[in-house]
Amino acid sequence: MNAPNPQAQVQELRRQLQSLLEAATANERKLDRFDALERRLIAVSSMEELVNLLLVDCRADFGLDAAELWLLDPDEELRRALPALPMARAPRLLDDHGPLKDLFGAARTTRLIGPGADEALLAQAFDARAGVRSAALLPLIRQGLLIGSLHLGSGDPQRYDTASGTKFLDRLAAIAAVSIESMLNRERLRRAGMTDGLTGVHNRRYFDHRSLIEFSQAVRHRYPLACLFLDIDHFKAINDRHGHPAGDEVLRQVGGLIQRSLRTGDLAARYGGEEFVVLLPRTDLAGACEVAERIRLLVQEAPFITPDGGTVGATLSVGLAMLPPGATSFAELLQAADRAVYDAKRAGRNRTVAADPAEGGAGGPAS
Ligand code: GH3
Ligand code: MG
Ligand code: MG
Repeated sequence: MNAPNPQAQVQELRRQLQSLLEAATANERKLDRFDALERRLIAVSSMEELVNLLLVDCRADFGLDAAELWLLDPDEELRRALPALPMARAPRLLDDHGPLKDLFGAARTTRLIGPGADEALLAQAFDARAGVRSAALLPLIRQGLLIGSLHLGSGDPQRYDTASGTKFLDRLAAIAAVSIESMLNRERLRRAGMTDGLTGVHNRRYFDHRSLIEFSQAVRHRYPLACLFLDIDHFKAINDRHGHPAGDEVLRQVGGLIQRSLRTGDLAARYGGEEFVVLLPRTDLAGACEVAERIRLLVQEAPFITPDGGTVGATLSVGLAMLPPGATSFAELLQAADRAVYDAKRAGRNRTVAADPAEGGAGGPAS
């Protein structure tokens, strides 16, 4: 038997020590990266910042080839809120738990997909796979409920190894879930402050605020600004005949019809009881008449479904006014549209009347 060579032993020990030191340094760097991301996650102040952080920054900071965020959105709350946000990449919004169940089953724990990866699962988890060869799928859980998932993908098949620990990733998932929930709550509160609880369109408070911005933009950039005032005809009779809940339902559905008739950038709000107001920036008289008539005809033709399953008909009177050149306040525009509604009522209801700018009030019928 050969005597042990002390020099070789020392060299071997040195090599082992070196590799331990390298592993410790790598771990420390990893810890620092996770720590920095977690601190930023806790500090985000908006939904778009949060999404950008998880889908863009996280990918760059961790040297990943793909990152995806899935969020459960059964009430289409996010579907309505997200398009308005300036996000570099959007999360995938899920109607139900189905896709999450397919990924996590009943276990709902972090899944690592490593070498010899489950190709079908990778294809499921990454829309644009961009050569993902290994991945970490993190379930986002709040108060025992799965609210979404975060998928981190790498082109390196060894990056996520099924044998590795998931402690850092579990922690990241927990913090991401808390941040998402708190951001959703903040978004809900923000929206509640500017939307009408019954119809879901903007409330008057928001309209008063936005209309001033639209007014000053239109004056500064010299583009036309149209205002529609829409008042449901004989609404009191609908309440009296079919009951208040049926009236509420008509209001809700009219609000929806108005909202769906507009383009992005237009503004609709419930102004009072059965009155709505619409602002159309960069729209001339002919364009505004077209929008007003489209809404009026949609309402005239709609069978409104009442809570007892019956149907009710309704009509609208619409007053239309254009911001006059040289206007000094938004109130002038609103008042002109309001006066035009009265003219529409006097002329027999269910019609659009355009205010005559020369008279600073009512003009001829637009329909
Ligand atoms: P006109 O054609 O002249 O506009 O007649 P009208 O009956 O629509 O107008 P009026 O102003 O006389 O009545 C408005 C009614 O709207 C009275 C009020 O009870 C009802 N209303 C206001 N807000 C709500 C609401 O949130 N829900 C329901 N169901 N009714 C409401
Ligand atoms: Mg009214
Ligand atoms: Mg009315």
